[in-house]
Amino acid sequence: MTFSIHGLAVARGIAIGRAVLVASSRVDVAHYFIKPDQVASEIERLRKARDEVVDELQRLQKDMPKDAPHELVALLDVHLMLLQDVELTSGVRLWIEERLYNAEWALTSQLEIIARQFDEMEDPYLRERKADMEQVAERVLHCLKGTSSLVTQAKRPARPQQELQLGDTMDVPLVLVAHDLSPADMLQFKQSVFAGFVTDVGGKTSHTAIVARSLDIPAVVGARSASQLVKQDDWVIIDGDAGVVIVDPSPIILADYGFKQRQGDLERERLARLRHTPAITLDGQKIELLANIEMPEDTEAAINAGAVGVGLFRSEFLFMGRQGNLPGEDEQYEAYRRAVDGMNGLPVTIRTVDVGADKPLDEARHDAAHLNPALGLRAIRWSLADPSMFLTQLRAILRAAAHGKVNLLIPMLAHGSEIRQTIALIDQARQDLDRRGVAYGPVHLGAMIEIPAAALSLRLFLKYFDFLSIGTNDLIQYTLAIDRADESVAHLYDPLHPAVLRLVADTIAECVRQGKGVSVCGEMAGDVTMTRLLLGLGLRSFSMHPSQVLSIKHQVLRSDTAKLALWAQEVLASDEPATLMPATR
Ligand code: PEP
Ligand code: MG
Repeated sequence: MTFSIHGLAVARGIAIGRAVLVASSRVDVAHYFIKPDQVASEIERLRKARDEVVDELQRLQKDMPKDAPHELVALLDVHLMLLQDVELTSGVRLWIEERLYNAEWALTSQLEIIARQFDEMEDPYLRERKADMEQVAERVLHCLKGTSSLVTQAKRPARPQQELQLGDTMDVPLVLVAHDLSPADMLQFKQSVFAGFVTDVGGKTSHTAIVARSLDIPAVVGARSASQLVKQDDWVIIDGDAGVVIVDPSPIILADYGFKQRQGDLERERLARLRHTPAITLDGQKIELLANIEMPEDTEAAINAGAVGVGLFRSEFLFMGRQGNLPGEDEQYEAYRRAVDGMNGLPVTIRTVDVGADKPLDEARHDAAHLNPALGLRAIRWSLADPSMFLTQLRAILRAAAHGKVNLLIPMLAHGSEIRQTIALIDQARQDLDRRGVAYGPVHLGAMIEIPAAALSLRLFLKYFDFLSIGTNDLIQYTLAIDRADESVAHLYDPLHPAVLRLVADTIAECVRQGKGVSVCGEMAGDVTMTRLLLGLGLRSFSMHPSQVLSIKHQVLRSDTAKLALWAQEVLASDEPATLMPATR
């Protein structure tokens, strides 16, 4: 029966496909398709892994001391029995044979189905056996690691939507449904097989949502219990524009969304024609449209979108998911240099590492011990707490600056003392390189304005920095005391709150007055409903995901900044700015 789930719209477009449920703890399991002629060897790989676990458990059983607790002996028996469980083994085979899933993916898919059956059991003893099943599967996954046939990884081409039929099992797009995905998990899916994402948790500007947007595929976050309500293999429509997930759609609904999807494709094609058009307003103002990237390879998307530079390289993604082995100077230098080379002489703004809060380095280091991670050791605070790590990054960035135009951007500053320490460390990084005789280049130095205290101390900031970049995602979070990653307060996360607009407007105005560069690199810059207001407030530089550049250019080309300036002042003076905002198309 058709039903819908409401969440937050984070990445545009419509995706229609079958649900793949992934437990958050298992997103790092490889997901890829095998070729039909590899089915037998994949099943063999799985059999070997299972036999290995059986051997291991039997050995454990044999070596068990005579006086071992009875429960432990019984537990090993249960585990051995579960390994032979027909539902598990035959189910996993089916995913491999019929869907061409790799063994790990097949195992976790079947595990999701069995886990649900356990959850529904009345008997508490049997319900608890779910944990045993998971432990057994974990052991098999462990044995599969290292024997993966990832080399054969193939992205399965999605069949055109109009050919979709309910009941099809092969060659249909897949959509990922999970309780939660960390930003690093999302990044793993960059080259993935999934046509869309749904998560139970997350706010509109949570980093998970931001990465989903950068993937440019439809996504809904904050869909509460979606991962409970959607079953493995259900047909699902993700409406990334409305923030709605429709489960088990009727053929009429399916046809309706298929139509919307094609409309969206046409709209994209129309926008693609603007790629080489300069972003100039009707009254002749030149507007700089820059790209936000997470990885050096993203520069390709930036160039393809017609961005005139990178306004924000979120360098922290180089640091994530590495079990604490942070990248060294040379590795970072190579990565920054690849970004600089990728932009062919256009400027690249590299932001120093901003981990913490909803961007843990990896799951193990997710510091739940801090009561308020968003107010804790994050971004520049984290860097200043570990000067040798920070110096490594600064040297790598300065070295990359020898190969092209590089701006160095510092996140989350609030205090004069932090500014001075940062500048001293940049000087020290230069001296280190001088001493080693290593080449480096000049950088423009910028600060992010993302804490209200910073927006209220502009004179201090402009004394030290060449340019400012307004991080509206955090500026809104900290001005309104709304956790940007918490869907339960997402309705209060308001870019049009008069206080937020005042801080943004004053920052732009003060930079313009002092002849310093200013841009917005938070999600507000890529929001078409905000473009005219920001232009009216005097903003001339916007940095956003590559996928949003053309839509924003479309707005710019139709805008007259002289007229917008008068209206923007009215919006700024209003107690209810939202009531003065026109609908944008
Ligand atoms: C911001 O806060 O607006 C910003 C661009 O930084 P991030 O989203 O990475 O915190
Ligand atoms: Mg920020």
